[in-house]
Amino acid sequence: MLFHVPELLWGTNWATCQATGQGCGLNFSDPIQSVPSSSVCFQGSVSNYYINVSDVSHVQAGLSFARKHRVPLIVKNTGHDYKGRSSGPGTLALWTHNVQPEIELSANFTPAGCHVGAGKAVTYGAGQQWEGLYKFAEANDIFLVGGSDLTVGAAGGWILGGGHGFLSPKFGLGVDNVLEMKVVLPNGTYVTASRCHNQDLFFALRGGGGSAFGVVWKVTSRAWDTREVQVVNVLFAAASISAYNAFFDLATQNANKWASEGWGGSIFAGGGGRTVIGFQVYNMAISLDDAKASMQPLFDFVASSNNSAQVIESDITSFPTIWQAYQAKLVPILESAGIGVALASRLIPSDLLAESAGQKAVAAALAQISNDLTFPTSASQTDPLSVNYTAPVQILMTAPYGYKPVSPGESFADSSVTPAWRKSTWHAIMIQNFASQADKETISTAFSAVHAAGDKLRALAPDSGAYQNEADVFETDPVGAYWGKENYNKLKAIKNAIDPDNILTCWDCIGSVRTDNRYQCYPDVAGPSNKNSA
Ligand SMILES: Cc1cc2nc3c(=O)[nH]c(=O)nc-3n(C[C@H](O)[C@H](O)[C@H](O)COP(=O)(O)OP(=O)(O)OC[C@H]3O[C@@H](n4cnc5c(N)ncnc54)[C@H](O)[C@@H]3O)c2cc1C
Repeated sequence: MLFHVPELLWGTNWATCQATGQGCGLNFSDPIQSVPSSSVCFQGSVSNYYINVSDVSHVQAGLSFARKHRVPLIVKNTGHDYKGRSSGPGTLALWTHNVQPEIELSANFTPAGCHVGAGKAVTYGAGQQWEGLYKFAEANDIFLVGGSDLTVGAAGGWILGGGHGFLSPKFGLGVDNVLEMKVVLPNGTYVTASRCHNQDLFFALRGGGGSAFGVVWKVTSRAWDTREVQVVNVLFAAASISAYNAFFDLATQNANKWASEGWGGSIFAGGGGRTVIGFQVYNMAISLDDAKASMQPLFDFVASSNNSAQVIESDITSFPTIWQAYQAKLVPILESAGIGVALASRLIPSDLLAESAGQKAVAAALAQISNDLTFPTSASQTDPLSVNYTAPVQILMTAPYGYKPVSPGESFADSSVTPAWRKSTWHAIMIQNFASQADKETISTAFSAVHAAGDKLRALAPDSGAYQNEADVFETDPVGAYWGKENYNKLKAIKNAIDPDNILTCWDCIGSVRTDNRYQCYPDVAGPSNKNSA
């Protein structure tokens, strides 16, 4: 419902002018209410005008208008972006949410310019969200690699930044599953890109990030035949801080093993209570018996009274389809909109998790970060939703650890995500939440805190990277972290060729400059890390 309002942004801080603290925050404890928490409302960082696009010609007209009148333009889909790339003061927004034509299923889709079919595929519009796609997949006996939140846009920021999900360890990233994209270029031309046609653009759209290369209109992605899924769901309050920390030892010791067996999911640590841990993972590659054996160390850990003071949930279940599993296990803990969020992240290399010293170092860093980041209000220890929503440490077991290219001619080098994804086991996120009415000092402190937490993992894995969609707004080295120098150089050349005037730009997107006026509302965080543009 909320996403039918163009101004709505998932992280409320991106509607506020964070540099001044002026905004119009919704009531933190009841964000569904459209009544603001304060009597004085400011425009904040919300775009001044929206074009509710429903036809390619609307996008073309918007681009042409912005170019002619030098109006700063942004593209907004669901507004889920953690880096504020879908809002900005004084901007005109192209709002793509309503581009939701009927989803199509092809029995054997041949991408533009290719001569060989790539198998089953689904085609969907720019505004399509995951919930609609998952329901479509369920009705058609297929499954898709998608995000773990039902309201994230499938064809916008998610895919442009890489796109990970709980099925990625076995079935790849979003960009590995895309077969074709239809896009309006910054000069207004409507083109199709695939592995066999406009390959440079296809490379750029699959990991280049944000709206830098055009406005996506349609996406076609690989569909897989449905299969059974095993799900492990554990939620417990550790008996002590040392037991809480010991859980990170267990997790790091098993990280590569679990990834190699096909497990994907998340660990939410420190939310709902300092020692509360949630663990939810999915596996389509092994039987229920093998799944039980694989997860025995986890169940043993939780069953011990030395480790856990209270076991709230602890089960392993087989579901016939992933959508049925999500409905039973994931939907009850999905995060809600209406809160301020600052985060940082790092891809944790498999090499580091392969040996004891590395496992211990990662576990110790996560324990320390849990101590350093806090949630500002008390939350219920037994409410699974708050455990997920407020956890300062979130380990996403979603790197494409065991994925191998499956389409004819497919290679990892033809997408532009950081190569670190291919060498990692975990995508570790550090979060500091704050109320939507927070003042500018509170906001700056939160961003500084996650940046400092991020430094701990950067120091441990200096040659790794970060997932640009869920990253530190003040990432120290955006080029090295999000793409790597080689991909970046290629992306920069493509950007220069198709958008020399930088009409389509966003924070830390290719070709962006952090001092651009449209970023004047970004949090005021001092230090050298605030100066490195992409
Ligand atoms: C609750 C939550 C859960 C999440 N879960 C996951 C997850 O499981 N996996 C994962 O990989 N990520 C996840 N994310 C991160 C998500 O990938 C990013 O927030 C992403 O940017 C959202 O894209 P959007 O199009 O929905 O949002 P928006 O904020 O509308 O757009 C994000 C960016 O994409 C650009 N954009 C959007 N549509 C288009 C278009 N049609 N053409 C060109 N540019 C466009 C915008 O300009 C902006 O730069 C999650 C985020 C949230 C808030």
